[in-house]
Amino acid sequence: MQIDTVFIVGAGAMGSGIAQVCAQAGIEVILNDVNRSALENAMTSISWSMDKFIEKGKLSEDRETMMGRIQTATDFSGAAGADIVVEAVFESADLKKEIFKKLDQICKPETLIFSNTSAIPITELASAVDRSEKVGGLHFFNPVPLMPVVEVIKGLETAEETLQTGIDFVRRLGKEPIRVNSDIAGFLLNRIHLVGYVEAIRMLEQGIGTVSEIDNGVRLAFGRKMGPFETGDMVGLDVSYGALTAIYEDAKDIRFYPPRLLKRKVKAGHLGRKTGRGWYTYNQDRGQTAPK
Ligand code: NAD
Repeated sequence: MQIDTVFIVGAGAMGSGIAQVCAQAGIEVILNDVNRSALENAMTSISWSMDKFIEKGKLSEDRETMMGRIQTATDFSGAAGADIVVEAVFESADLKKEIFKKLDQICKPETLIFSNTSAIPITELASAVDRSEKVGGLHFFNPVPLMPVVEVIKGLETAEETLQTGIDFVRRLGKEPIRVNSDIAGFLLNRIHLVGYVEAIRMLEQGIGTVSEIDNGVRLAFGRKMGPFETGDMVGLDVSYGALTAIYEDAKDIRFYPPRLLKRKVKAGHLGRKTGRGWYTYNQDRGQTAPK
């Protein structure tokens, strides 16, 4: 299947990153958000990030050409001409299903609809539309322009052609697809990662280790670039909380029960880098300042 135009719903951390890598791969993008300032912020951060890649010699086209492939919109009319849609709004099944219903009415019958959900089962989202065989998951990792891997997820009714188009699309973006054959909540990689994150938060709650000690130890012992709390701040505490809640609701597996401290921090608005405070605090240029 030929992909010329992608409609992306949600211009936050993930939607803007997905728009950037599509434009860099020569694909036309319509980036949609209900919030006009989210679209403006997305365009600023995409432009800044492209400049960094150009400075490092990692992109051969000029910024204007690539930025010229991205249009922004607060309405859904552009979805009518899209070959595929990638949905990346807040992690809420109700909100995503409402958007899927709207897309189902506007998109061409052959348009494929993918969700970037972290944990909501694809089959549940597909139940909102009449084209469940054309719905799949494309789980990008944050920050999208730097992370080389994307999970491509099959829901119960996802057609093999849909999955294969998702895999080819990911390769065209220069990333490695990881095929996930069943839409178990949390999919493959987040389930593995979140078990460790929950354990780290519980050890912090019990006073067994501090944020910086646990992060240092994990980085040094396991050869990782970031510890669980550093990753948690980058991903967003609300995003991980939402993912854990969805996995726990689906699996009723105690390993994924969201720790109380995580819940309290989300309520307090300590969401990580995006709010300047999470497990660490950050100064205005988002550099890490003081470990808690
Ligand atoms: P975010 O909060 O940065 O952005 C969400 C955007 O969706 C906001 O700009 C918001 O205005 C927009 N939005 C809300 N309702 C909308 C609507 N009705 N129509 C159009 N736009 C709407 O969130 P994010 O971190 O980009 O996450 C988006 C999705 O990607 C979530 O499902 C999340 O679980 C998933 N995800 C996040 C990460 C991560 O590390 N942050 C990683 C992988 C997957």
